[in-house]
Amino acid sequence: MSDVYQGDDYEAFDSDPEQSIVQGRLDAWAHLANCKGYAKLFFGKTAERPQARVRREVKAHSLCMLCAVKTDCRLFARNNHEYGFWGDENEESRHEAGFTLSSPIGVHITPIVH
Ligand code: SF4
Repeated sequence: MSDVYQGDDYEAFDSDPEQSIVQGRLDAWAHLANCKGYAKLFFGKTAERPQARVRREVKAHSLCMLCAVKTDCRLFARNNHEYGFWGDENEESRHEAGFTLSSPIGVHITPIVH
């Protein structure tokens, strides 16, 4: 785990080093994820306030910036229309890149106009 993010209110909830935010459908790259044990930073709580989301995503960003598998992670999330913060992108960033959510419930995104 990176020493960039020093947990406080988002302490690691999972001490198993083999756990990952993508548990259940691990690709080879996911074993090298820098965010193991920090899923709370990468997925917001229900009705998360915008300011809290910004603070959470800043911390997630600090882990993604030093992650060796950022490109693989980003492509996975884009291609699978994932929710959450993946590969240093949130839902809005993926949408802006042309990868929309399947069901954008509760996500504030503007339609892409071509
Ligand atoms: S790029 Fe970020 S979300 Fe993806 S595996 Fe690395 S730390 Fe986790």
